[in-house]
Amino acid sequence: MLISDIFSQKDLVLSFEIFPPKKAAALENIDATLAQLCRLNPDFISVTCGAGGTDQNHAPIEDRTIDVGRRIKNDYGIEPLIHLTCLNYDKADIVTILEKLRAESLLNILALRGDAAEGIVPKNDFAHAKDLIAFVREQGGFTLGGACYPETHLEAADRVSDIRFLRQKVDEGASFLISQIFFENELFFDFVERCRIAGIDVPIEAGVMPVTNKAQIERIVSLCGATLPAKFRRILDRYADKPEALMDAGIAYAINQIVDLIASGVDGVHIYTMNKPQVAARICEGIENLIDRSPAQESFA
Ligand code: FAD
Repeated sequence: MLISDIFSQKDLVLSFEIFPPKKAAALENIDATLAQLCRLNPDFISVTCGAGGTDQNHAPIEDRTIDVGRRIKNDYGIEPLIHLTCLNYDKADIVTILEKLRAESLLNILALRGDAAEGIVPKNDFAHAKDLIAFVREQGGFTLGGACYPETHLEAADRVSDIRFLRQKVDEGASFLISQIFFENELFFDFVERCRIAGIDVPIEAGVMPVTNKAQIERIVSLCGATLPAKFRRILDRYADKPEALMDAGIAYAINQIVDLIASGVDGVHIYTMNKPQVAARICEGIENLIDRSPAQESFA
């Protein structure tokens, strides 16, 4: 099913993000995680992808993403969204990847620029995600989404140009956007308003990451620049060394955030699960009666 159809049919979309295991051998173990996540019946599950290169078995890095996507679709009947970066690929590489995706009927792509990776020399065909979006659209047959940044992308010159470039992604063919994590809803609401003023009228899903590990969240925040509100910082400081308490507090914070997002009419909530189905399950339990669990219908138009 095309993810654009899911957004057009549902007032509120619920999706998860997972990452493929780093070691090829651990791929087999992903099934237990997938089984638990799929039981929660999200509208789709997105699968991250490294920014090019090969894994320890010298296989292209994207093969693991495709493998996990195939399992989600074929074994669990949930629609996968395949992340695809472009900075370290050329057009021929992307054509090859699109062929692999077509062969597996994986037709929903989150088109990303990616970041420079150690040991990989960037190629010159795609400077920005919008170039990948335009190229894939020309190839035909795929639905495309893009990433967006409520607190502005770290490399952006300013907030205005970041939104202008986001508009270009949509004009090139991104039919939905998924946001970077944020912990302060007002920043997201302000961002969505600025997008709408700029004529960006596609659905914008809010990215929420439940915090269950202080070191991990601090690393992620240092990479993406998300603001840590004082009440969130107090949770981290108080429960840093009490994993079970941090888990309870982190899940409660995420549920609070999501309830406020839903009450404000957000298009969708994308939970960065960090491959922890038990955390996703507790969040889903907390918002059970706030979400519409009926599946979207395939459109054959
Ligand atoms: P772009 O849209 O190209 O934007 C990057 C920067 O360039 C921005 O500062 C923008 O303002 C600027 N820009 C855009 N267009 C122009 C232009 N025409 N001229 C000048 N400047 C311009 N990374 C991974 O490696 N794998 C993943 O699976 C992955 N998944 C992600 C999922 C989500 C939901 C998000 C939010 C991010 C994800 N990332 C992932 C991280 C992402 O690759 C990085 O944030 C990257 O730095 C930017 O990617 P982008 O697609 O937003 O880039």
